[in-house]
Amino acid sequence: MIVRLTDAWQEILQRRAANTATGAWPEPVNELLGEMAAAAVLMQGNIKFNGALILQIFGDGPVKVAVAEVQPDFSFRATATVVGEVRPGTALPELVNLNNEGRCAITLDPKDRLPGQQPYQGVVPLFGDQREKLGKLSEVLEHYMLQSEQLDTTLVLAADSQVAAGLLIQRLPVTGEGNLAGSRAATQVNEDQIGVNEDFNRISILAKSLKRDELLELDVETILHRLFWEEQVLRFEPGTPPHFACSCSRERVARMIRSLGADEAQSILAERGHIEVGCDFCGQQYHFDPVDAAQIFTAPGDQPPIPPVVQ
Ligand SMILES: [Zn+2]
Repeated sequence: MIVRLTDAWQEILQRRAANTATGAWPEPVNELLGEMAAAAVLMQGNIKFNGALILQIFGDGPVKVAVAEVQPDFSFRATATVVGEVRPGTALPELVNLNNEGRCAITLDPKDRLPGQQPYQGVVPLFGDQREKLGKLSEVLEHYMLQSEQLDTTLVLAADSQVAAGLLIQRLPVTGEGNLAGSRAATQVNEDQIGVNEDFNRISILAKSLKRDELLELDVETILHRLFWEEQVLRFEPGTPPHFACSCSRERVARMIRSLGADEAQSILAERGHIEVGCDFCGQQYHFDPVDAAQIFTAPGDQPPIPPVVQ
Protein backbone atom coordinates (compact mmCIF):
# COMPACT_ATOMS: atom_id res chain seq x y z
CA MET A 1 0.00 0.00 0.00
CA ILE A 2 1.20 3.46 -0.78
CA VAL A 3 -0.15 6.82 0.34
CA ARG A 4 0.75 10.40 -0.36
CA LEU A 5 -1.03 13.04 1.72
CA THR A 6 -0.74 16.61 0.47
CA ASP A 7 -3.74 18.99 0.79
CA ALA A 8 -5.18 17.28 3.85
CA TRP A 9 -1.81 17.20 5.57
CA GLN A 10 -1.13 20.86 4.78
CA GLU A 11 -4.56 21.75 6.13
CA ILE A 12 -3.73 20.17 9.51
CA LEU A 13 -0.48 22.16 9.71
CA GLN A 14 -2.17 25.40 8.60
CA ARG A 15 -4.91 25.05 11.19
CA ARG A 16 -2.29 24.53 13.88
CA ALA A 17 -0.21 27.49 12.72
CA ALA A 18 -3.38 29.66 12.73
CA ASN A 19 -4.19 28.67 16.31
CA THR A 20 -3.03 31.71 18.29
CA ALA A 21 -3.09 29.73 21.54
CA THR A 22 -0.49 27.22 20.31
CA GLY A 23 1.20 28.34 17.09
CA ALA A 24 2.83 25.88 14.68
CA TRP A 25 4.57 22.72 15.80
CA PRO A 26 8.36 22.60 15.58
CA GLU A 27 9.61 20.90 12.39
CA PRO A 28 10.64 17.57 14.05
CA VAL A 29 7.10 17.29 15.50
CA ASN A 30 5.61 17.97 12.05
CA GLU A 31 7.70 15.12 10.67
CA LEU A 32 6.68 12.70 13.41
CA LEU A 33 3.00 13.59 13.12
CA GLY A 34 3.08 13.38 9.31
CA GLU A 35 4.65 9.93 9.46
CA MET A 36 2.03 8.87 12.00
CA ALA A 37 -0.78 10.16 9.77
CA ALA A 38 0.60 8.33 6.72
CA ALA A 39 1.12 5.12 8.73
CA ALA A 40 -2.39 5.28 10.23
CA VAL A 41 -3.97 5.74 6.78
CA LEU A 42 -1.94 2.78 5.47
CA MET A 43 -2.99 0.58 8.38
CA GLN A 44 -6.64 1.56 8.08
CA GLY A 45 -6.49 0.82 4.34
CA ASN A 46 -4.84 -2.51 5.07
CA ILE A 47 -7.30 -3.86 7.61
CA LYS A 48 -10.44 -2.05 6.36
CA PHE A 49 -11.74 -1.74 9.91
CA ASN A 50 -15.30 -0.47 10.42
CA GLY A 51 -14.39 2.11 13.02
CA ALA A 52 -11.63 4.51 13.96
CA LEU A 53 -8.00 3.41 13.86
CA ILE A 54 -6.08 5.54 16.35
CA LEU A 55 -2.30 5.56 16.39
CA GLN A 56 -0.88 7.19 19.53
CA ILE A 57 2.53 7.81 20.98
CA PHE A 58 2.85 8.58 24.68
CA GLY A 59 6.26 10.18 24.97
CA ASP A 60 8.62 10.80 27.87
CA GLY A 61 10.40 13.65 26.06
CA PRO A 62 9.08 17.04 24.91
CA VAL A 63 6.30 15.36 22.90
CA LYS A 64 3.88 14.09 25.55
CA VAL A 65 1.17 12.78 23.24
CA ALA A 66 0.91 12.47 19.47
CA VAL A 67 -2.26 11.15 17.83
CA ALA A 68 -3.36 10.27 14.32
CA GLU A 69 -6.93 9.01 13.86
CA VAL A 70 -8.35 7.59 10.62
CA GLN A 71 -11.98 6.70 9.92
CA PRO A 72 -13.11 3.95 7.51
CA ASP A 73 -13.79 6.58 4.81
CA PHE A 74 -10.15 7.77 5.16
CA SER A 75 -11.05 11.04 6.80
CA PHE A 76 -8.31 11.71 9.30
CA ARG A 77 -7.03 14.17 11.88
CA ALA A 78 -3.86 14.46 13.94
CA THR A 79 -2.46 16.47 16.81
CA ALA A 80 0.43 16.56 19.25
CA THR A 81 1.07 18.07 22.67
CA VAL A 82 4.54 19.50 23.09
CA VAL A 83 6.01 20.75 26.36
CA GLY A 84 9.28 22.64 26.23
CA GLU A 85 11.81 23.33 23.53
CA VAL A 86 12.32 21.14 20.42
CA ARG A 87 15.43 21.97 18.42
CA PRO A 88 15.59 21.49 14.64
CA GLY A 89 16.82 18.03 13.72
CA THR A 90 15.73 16.38 16.99
CA ALA A 91 15.49 12.63 16.38
CA LEU A 92 12.65 10.31 17.43
CA PRO A 93 14.27 8.94 20.65
CA GLU A 94 14.94 12.47 21.96
CA LEU A 95 11.40 13.54 21.02
CA VAL A 96 9.42 10.74 22.66
CA ASN A 97 11.72 8.18 24.25
CA LEU A 98 14.35 9.98 26.34
CA ASN A 99 14.31 7.48 29.23
CA ASN A 100 13.14 4.52 27.13
CA GLU A 101 9.70 4.86 28.70
CA GLY A 102 7.79 6.01 25.60
CA ARG A 103 4.90 3.88 24.35
CA CYS A 104 3.10 3.38 21.06
CA ALA A 105 -0.56 2.33 21.06
CA ILE A 106 -2.86 1.25 18.26
CA THR A 107 -6.56 1.36 19.08
CA LEU A 108 -9.41 -0.01 17.00
CA ASP A 109 -12.64 1.62 18.09
CA PRO A 110 -15.63 -0.07 16.41
CA LYS A 111 -18.23 2.23 14.88
CA ASP A 112 -21.23 0.43 16.31
CA ARG A 113 -19.91 -0.50 19.72
CA LEU A 114 -22.14 -2.80 21.72
CA PRO A 115 -22.96 -1.75 25.31
CA GLY A 116 -19.99 -2.56 27.53
CA GLN A 117 -17.77 -3.41 24.56
CA GLN A 118 -14.24 -1.99 24.90
CA PRO A 119 -12.15 -0.82 21.96
CA TYR A 120 -9.27 -3.15 21.08
CA GLN A 121 -5.88 -1.70 22.01
CA GLY A 122 -2.32 -2.97 21.54
CA VAL A 123 0.61 -1.20 23.21
CA VAL A 124 4.32 -1.61 22.53
CA PRO A 125 7.42 0.12 23.91
CA LEU A 126 9.65 2.21 21.64
CA PHE A 127 12.57 -0.19 21.96
CA GLY A 128 13.62 -3.40 20.22
CA ASP A 129 14.30 -6.93 21.46
CA GLN A 130 17.51 -5.86 23.25
CA ARG A 131 15.83 -2.78 24.77
CA GLU A 132 17.71 -0.65 22.24
CA LYS A 133 15.91 2.61 21.43
CA LEU A 134 14.33 2.44 17.98
CA GLY A 135 15.36 5.36 15.80
CA LYS A 136 12.39 5.46 13.43
CA LEU A 137 8.62 5.26 13.68
CA SER A 138 8.67 2.68 10.87
CA GLU A 139 10.79 0.36 13.04
CA VAL A 140 8.40 0.75 15.97
CA LEU A 141 5.42 -0.20 13.79
CA GLU A 142 7.22 -3.09 12.06
CA HIS A 143 8.06 -4.42 15.51
CA TYR A 144 4.44 -4.00 16.59
CA MET A 145 3.11 -5.93 13.58
CA LEU A 146 5.52 -8.79 14.14
CA GLN A 147 4.86 -8.98 17.88
CA SER A 148 1.10 -8.62 17.89
CA GLU A 149 0.06 -9.93 14.49
CA GLN A 150 2.95 -12.27 13.58
CA LEU A 151 3.13 -10.45 10.27
CA ASP A 152 6.26 -9.58 8.34
CA THR A 153 5.91 -5.88 7.58
CA THR A 154 8.10 -3.33 5.89
CA LEU A 155 7.29 0.35 6.23
CA VAL A 156 8.92 3.37 4.66
CA LEU A 157 7.64 6.70 5.99
CA ALA A 158 8.56 10.32 5.38
CA ALA A 159 7.01 13.71 6.02
CA ASP A 160 7.78 17.39 5.75
CA SER A 161 5.57 20.48 5.85
CA GLN A 162 4.09 19.73 2.41
CA VAL A 163 3.79 15.96 2.10
CA ALA A 164 3.23 13.01 4.42
CA ALA A 165 3.85 9.73 2.61
CA GLY A 166 4.29 6.06 3.27
CA LEU A 167 4.78 2.66 1.69
CA LEU A 168 3.65 -0.50 3.46
CA ILE A 169 4.59 -4.01 2.38
CA GLN A 170 3.04 -6.87 4.28
CA ARG A 171 3.18 -10.60 3.71
CA LEU A 172 -0.40 -11.78 3.67
CA PRO A 173 -1.19 -14.71 5.93
CA VAL A 174 -2.57 -16.64 2.99
CA THR A 175 -1.56 -20.15 2.04
CA GLY A 176 -2.20 -21.91 -1.23
CA GLU A 177 -2.52 -20.44 -4.69
CA GLY A 178 -3.43 -17.02 -3.28
CA ASN A 179 0.05 -16.63 -1.85
CA LEU A 180 2.86 -15.13 -3.90
CA ALA A 181 4.81 -18.31 -3.26
CA GLY A 182 1.96 -20.32 -4.78
CA SER A 183 1.74 -24.01 -4.04
CA ARG A 184 5.10 -24.08 -2.27
CA ALA A 185 3.54 -22.30 0.68
CA ALA A 186 0.39 -24.37 0.70
CA THR A 187 1.79 -27.03 2.98
CA GLN A 188 3.40 -24.61 5.41
CA VAL A 189 1.78 -22.81 8.29
CA ASN A 190 2.08 -19.06 8.28
CA GLU A 191 4.49 -18.84 11.23
CA ASP A 192 7.08 -20.98 9.43
CA GLN A 193 7.36 -18.24 6.83
CA ILE A 194 8.25 -15.38 9.20
CA GLY A 195 11.45 -13.77 8.04
CA VAL A 196 12.26 -16.47 5.47
CA ASN A 197 9.72 -16.02 2.68
CA GLU A 198 11.88 -15.29 -0.37
CA ASP A 199 9.26 -13.36 -2.29
CA PHE A 200 8.47 -11.14 0.67
CA ASN A 201 12.15 -10.57 1.42
CA ARG A 202 12.90 -9.58 -2.18
CA ILE A 203 9.99 -7.13 -2.34
CA SER A 204 10.84 -5.82 1.13
CA ILE A 205 14.44 -5.09 0.12
CA LEU A 206 13.20 -3.25 -2.98
CA ALA A 207 10.82 -1.19 -0.83
CA LYS A 208 13.56 -0.39 1.68
CA SER A 209 15.73 1.01 -1.12
CA LEU A 210 13.26 3.90 -1.47
CA LYS A 211 14.93 7.10 -0.25
CA ARG A 212 13.18 9.71 1.89
CA ASP A 213 13.43 12.38 -0.84
CA GLU A 214 12.03 10.00 -3.47
CA LEU A 215 9.05 9.15 -1.28
CA LEU A 216 8.36 12.85 -0.66
CA GLU A 217 8.92 14.14 -4.18
CA LEU A 218 7.90 11.46 -6.66
CA ASP A 219 4.35 10.61 -7.62
CA VAL A 220 2.94 7.18 -6.78
CA GLU A 221 3.15 5.97 -10.39
CA THR A 222 6.87 6.72 -10.63
CA ILE A 223 7.68 5.18 -7.25
CA LEU A 224 5.90 1.91 -8.04
CA HIS A 225 7.61 1.71 -11.43
CA ARG A 226 11.08 2.45 -10.05
CA LEU A 227 10.84 -0.09 -7.26
CA PHE A 228 8.84 -2.90 -8.79
CA TRP A 229 9.36 -2.71 -12.56
CA GLU A 230 10.42 -6.36 -12.58
CA GLU A 231 7.43 -7.47 -10.51
CA GLN A 232 3.83 -8.00 -11.53
CA VAL A 233 1.91 -5.13 -9.92
CA LEU A 234 -1.88 -5.11 -9.75
CA ARG A 235 -3.37 -1.79 -8.64
CA PHE A 236 -6.43 -1.33 -6.48
CA GLU A 237 -7.61 2.25 -5.91
CA PRO A 238 -9.42 3.13 -2.68
CA GLY A 239 -13.02 4.36 -2.94
CA THR A 240 -12.46 7.75 -1.36
CA PRO A 241 -9.11 9.50 -1.13
CA PRO A 242 -7.83 10.46 2.34
CA HIS A 243 -9.10 13.85 3.51
CA PHE A 244 -9.07 15.98 6.64
CA ALA A 245 -12.11 15.95 8.90
CA CYS A 246 -12.58 16.61 12.58
CA SER A 247 -15.25 14.82 14.59
CA CYS A 248 -15.44 17.42 17.36
CA SER A 249 -18.82 19.05 18.04
CA ARG A 250 -20.50 21.39 20.50
CA GLU A 251 -22.39 18.40 21.96
CA ARG A 252 -19.16 16.51 22.64
CA VAL A 253 -17.57 19.52 24.30
CA ALA A 254 -20.73 19.96 26.40
CA ARG A 255 -20.46 16.31 27.49
CA MET A 256 -16.83 16.91 28.42
CA ILE A 257 -17.78 19.96 30.53
CA ARG A 258 -20.52 17.91 32.21
CA SER A 259 -17.91 15.28 33.12
CA LEU A 260 -15.88 18.00 34.91
CA GLY A 261 -18.79 18.43 37.28
CA ALA A 262 -20.94 21.46 38.15
CA ASP A 263 -18.53 22.75 40.85
CA GLU A 264 -15.54 22.83 38.50
CA ALA A 265 -17.61 24.52 35.78
CA GLN A 266 -18.90 27.08 38.31
CA SER A 267 -15.38 27.95 39.42
CA ILE A 268 -14.29 28.53 35.80
CA LEU A 269 -17.35 30.74 35.25
CA ALA A 270 -16.63 32.68 38.44
CA GLU A 271 -13.05 33.27 37.35
CA ARG A 272 -13.52 34.06 33.63
CA GLY A 273 -17.22 34.73 33.11
CA HIS A 274 -17.46 32.01 30.45
CA ILE A 275 -16.07 28.60 29.49
CA GLU A 276 -13.93 28.49 26.35
CA VAL A 277 -12.78 25.16 24.93
CA GLY A 278 -10.59 24.84 21.84
CA CYS A 279 -10.36 21.64 19.78
CA ASP A 280 -6.76 20.45 19.65
CA PHE A 281 -7.28 18.76 16.27
CA CYS A 282 -8.94 21.48 14.18
CA GLY A 283 -8.63 24.66 16.24
CA GLN A 284 -12.40 25.22 16.49
CA GLN A 285 -13.28 27.31 19.59
CA TYR A 286 -16.39 26.47 21.62
CA HIS A 287 -17.79 29.24 23.79
CA PHE A 288 -20.21 28.66 26.67
CA ASP A 289 -21.66 31.63 28.57
CA PRO A 290 -23.29 31.14 32.03
CA VAL A 291 -26.70 30.40 30.46
CA ASP A 292 -25.19 27.77 28.09
CA ALA A 293 -23.28 26.26 31.02
CA ALA A 294 -26.41 26.06 33.18
CA GLN A 295 -28.18 24.17 30.37
CA ILE A 296 -25.36 21.61 30.28
CA PHE A 297 -26.08 20.69 33.88
CA THR A 298 -29.83 20.57 33.47
CA ALA A 299 -30.61 16.88 33.00
CA PRO A 300 -33.56 16.19 30.66
CA GLY A 301 -35.68 15.07 33.64
CA ASP A 302 -35.05 18.34 35.47
CA GLN A 303 -36.40 20.54 32.70
CA PRO A 304 -39.61 22.44 33.36
CA PRO A 305 -42.63 20.76 31.79
CA ILE A 306 -43.46 21.92 28.29
CA PRO A 307 -46.48 24.24 28.49
CA PRO A 308 -49.61 22.79 26.92
CA VAL A 309 -50.29 23.95 23.41
CA VAL A 310 -53.13 26.45 23.29
CA GLN A 311 -55.47 25.52 20.47
ZN1 LIG B 1 -12.10 19.66 16.04
